Amino acid sequence: MKNPVSIFWFRRDLRLGDNAGLFHALKNGFPVLPVFIFDTNILDKLEDKADRRVAFIHLALEDLQKQLQDIGSTLLVKYGDPEQIWHELIQEFEIKAVFSNRDYEPYGMQRDKLIAEMLQQQGIEFHSFKDIVIFERDEVLKDNGKPYTVYTPYSRRWKANLKPENLQSFDNGKFFSNFFKTSPLQLPLLESMGFANFSAEEIPSSTVSDALIENYGETRDIPGIQGTSRLGVHLRFGTISIRELTSTASALSEKFLNELIWRDFYQMILFHFPHVTERAFKPEYDRIEWNNDEEHFICWQQGKTGYPIVDAGMRELNATGYMHNRVRMITASFLTKHLLIDWRWGEAYFVKKLLDFELASNNGGWQWAASTGCDAAPYFRIFNPSLQTQKFDPKLTYIKHWVPEWNTPEYPIPLVNHEKARERALKVYKAGLSKNR
Ligand code: FAD
Repeated sequence: MKNPVSIFWFRRDLRLGDNAGLFHALKNGFPVLPVFIFDTNILDKLEDKADRRVAFIHLALEDLQKQLQDIGSTLLVKYGDPEQIWHELIQEFEIKAVFSNRDYEPYGMQRDKLIAEMLQQQGIEFHSFKDIVIFERDEVLKDNGKPYTVYTPYSRRWKANLKPENLQSFDNGKFFSNFFKTSPLQLPLLESMGFANFSAEEIPSSTVSDALIENYGETRDIPGIQGTSRLGVHLRFGTISIRELTSTASALSEKFLNELIWRDFYQMILFHFPHVTERAFKPEYDRIEWNNDEEHFICWQQGKTGYPIVDAGMRELNATGYMHNRVRMITASFLTKHLLIDWRWGEAYFVKKLLDFELASNNGGWQWAASTGCDAAPYFRIFNPSLQTQKFDPKLTYIKHWVPEWNTPEYPIPLVNHEKARERALKVYKAGLSKNR
């Protein structure tokens, strides 16, 4: 006989506490079987089998598995195409309902629609909840009902809409006895899926001190110190709760809160304007004629442009999967303006490398730097790498750490001259923008 269960489908919400969809599943009455699917539609596209994200997820699942075993339950982890896996689950269990948290990325929405329809045909309801953002989709709109495309008025409305209940934690612990009771199941090994292991020591901590958040306004722009939270990857995979972090931010630092609002903003933009994954937010910027020099692109990737702040950033990214926000802006501006390389090339490189890769924020960041985005830097704003260094790394702490051969004969000469590159960028952007459609 099949076991009657409700299924909670974990995706980018890998925690038991303060998890909206899981809370509703546990309250639903049937024993809850938690499921995670290593999705081959995503994994097969990853070229580098030492992908840090996959290893991060695996570690988070091991952690969840331990917690579930302690309460007499288990996590069921599958590997394959979600549609196929759901067919198998329907055969294996008497599924009463399926619960999940909403995803706003085009692939995630399409996948969920497909699975919801498939389940519905079997008479199984698919429930989804808001969990990964404070305000989603249509919750922060202009007076005329349209989505905001500029951050500052969006953030004002976001703050005006914020009520204590938006930050209230879901008390999942109260219902833990409702998990499906069974002996523990094995997680598939990373190696069996063709991926390499990754040391847990390389993962940034999931906690942050109050002092760091309090001082964030002064420290956030200095790449040579740890002045930011490094929580990106935990927000990406839901190993921490955005509601808890936002409560802390609201109490301690407006500047930090503003960054969390940027995150909601870009999720909202991606939902309403999914064309940004392929094209400029502003169509006239699709007429820019990029230079796209492949050798320059390789030098940029390898941190060998001859501009030490750019090279330090790229080397940090290659070595750790992380790059400081100030330097993400500088390296992205340099690629698109100094080298006139299509922002989508740079975006794709960050997709491969960033541990905290988030489609909405990465695309938003790239389109901001390339001036093609919704609320972007104006095209004539071209970061001067030397001035950025003087301002944000005046003692060269960051540069000396990542580019030890700087100022020696081994260090490459600059790929382009700053002034000439600046003038060329202005000319090419202007020409593109004034072209007839
Ligand atoms: P903190 O400064 O401590 O901020 C806390 C959290 O706020 C971050 O973890 C993040 O979730 C959010 N946040 C901060 N700044 C931004 C921002 N500008 N936009 C949206 N959310 C923000 N962020 C990603 O999470 N994933 C990406 O793939 C990503 N790619 C980027 C690419 C470019 C070209 C640029 C300019 C920015 C990108 N960002 C991205 C935004 C930002 O750089 C990172 O969120 C931040 O550097 C992560 O470090 P942290 O966790 O220490 O951030």
